[in-house]
Amino acid sequence: MNIYQGLIAFIIFAISINSYASVPTVKVKIADSKDDITLSGKNIVNHLDLNQSTKKYYGHQKLKFNCKKFSSAISLRKNKSIKLASVSAGPNLIKWNEGVYKGKMNVILSDDGKSCDLVNEVSIESYISTLLAKEMHNSWPVEALKAQAIAARTYALHKIKTDEVSKTKGFNVYYDLESSQKHQVSGSLKDSSTRTYYATRLTEGLVLVSKKKKLEPAFYHSKCGGHTLRPDQVWNHKVSGYTGVKCPYCHKHGNKDWKVKVKPAQLISLVDKTLQDFHSASLVASKKKLRMTKDRNKNATLRIYDGDNLKTVQKSRLRVKLGYKKALSNNFKIAKIKNDVYMMGKGMGHGVGMCQYGALEMAKLGKTYKQILKHYFPNFKIRRLY
Ligand SMILES: [Zn+2]
Repeated sequence: MNIYQGLIAFIIFAISINSYASVPTVKVKIADSKDDITLSGKNIVNHLDLNQSTKKYYGHQKLKFNCKKFSSAISLRKNKSIKLASVSAGPNLIKWNEGVYKGKMNVILSDDGKSCDLVNEVSIESYISTLLAKEMHNSWPVEALKAQAIAARTYALHKIKTDEVSKTKGFNVYYDLESSQKHQVSGSLKDSSTRTYYATRLTEGLVLVSKKKKLEPAFYHSKCGGHTLRPDQVWNHKVSGYTGVKCPYCHKHGNKDWKVKVKPAQLISLVDKTLQDFHSASLVASKKKLRMTKDRNKNATLRIYDGDNLKTVQKSRLRVKLGYKKALSNNFKIAKIKNDVYMMGKGMGHGVGMCQYGALEMAKLGKTYKQILKHYFPNFKIRRLY
């Protein structure tokens, strides 16, 4: 589940949408920092970008790329990735590690110059089918999987169309998004099933668009704990069309509410660091003159009375300082019980967009994917792009 999704500094572009003549492909980074990469398959074709040579291997073949050797042979400019090779196998599958993949495998010398990234270039529909098994579960109801397919397709197409990862890094990284909790987690063909294939096929080409018919990133998270958040409540940037909604659905599923004990001195230090790093402020009063309360108007912030000064801290920022493994969501309060201080929270993940356990429960209650998406993205419409 994408707990970290969108937490890196990134540029949000709203883009106008045009239909596609055919199914687009997506370039997904499936591995990084590898010393070597071994790919195998039947009738594979290896195109080496460095000397523009192509070699076809008949029958079953194994290819090993020694990235350390490449890196010593190439004089690298800093902050630049280099595409080394592109391996395809026509209609056959390519094996890497324990997984099998459709499409091409691109071997990229990463910007550290010492290792390789592996990028699977594949039809976005094939990608979505493997993703459903990872971001949700093969056993979940098809209507929940269909809602997830549309949200994930929208998220991926937005990344592709804006070329956001390369633009943020400042050089061509040769991939659109990575298979990780930072973006979206996808798998190999072994992870997809009849049910994930079916949910993908039945929503082929469908995305969410804003009222202005713009493609925006469709966020989702594991469990909101009762109410979803807007992107600007978590990451300090607005995405038009988003609104927080009540979610009476997810409480039966997933982890129970979480509770972390923190020492008062540790909490003060964390709040101070959060103010310094994210809010251009710091604590000045003595410990005795500090008071912390919830913001009555905004569930996403805490009010800090620093002597006579009122300061505001975003919970999502404080969560970064405490660590995602301890603070499981942005939906929490701070409570003093006897002499101990606790962070007590509901839900899991950033809380923006679609609540996945909420979608599961809605589907169990007989709601369709359209009703699920309408609930979590009330200002967005479903459109077919291809
Ligand atoms: Zn929820």
